Amino acid sequence: MRYPLHMNTELQQETPHEIEVELPDACVACGGSIAARFMTGSARGVCLRCHLITALRVARTDEGMQVGHAPVALA
Ligand SMILES: [Zn+2]
Repeated sequence: MRYPLHMNTELQQETPHEIEVELPDACVACGGSIAARFMTGSARGVCLRCHLITALRVARTDEGMQVGHAPVALA
């Protein structure tokens, strides 16, 4: 006996764990907006004005996500 089975056969949608957020006035160099990209475990921002790449630190708090600048160690 055969019948269409839709349960468990759906392909798991490839949802990239990647979120992009714009952080206004977040650039430490020029005060411009930073386009931050959050991936699993890390975050990185690029200033829209001066293109400075910033490492971001994401912390989970009770109030949600908190974003801060990670210690900059750029070559
Ligand atoms: Zn900047």
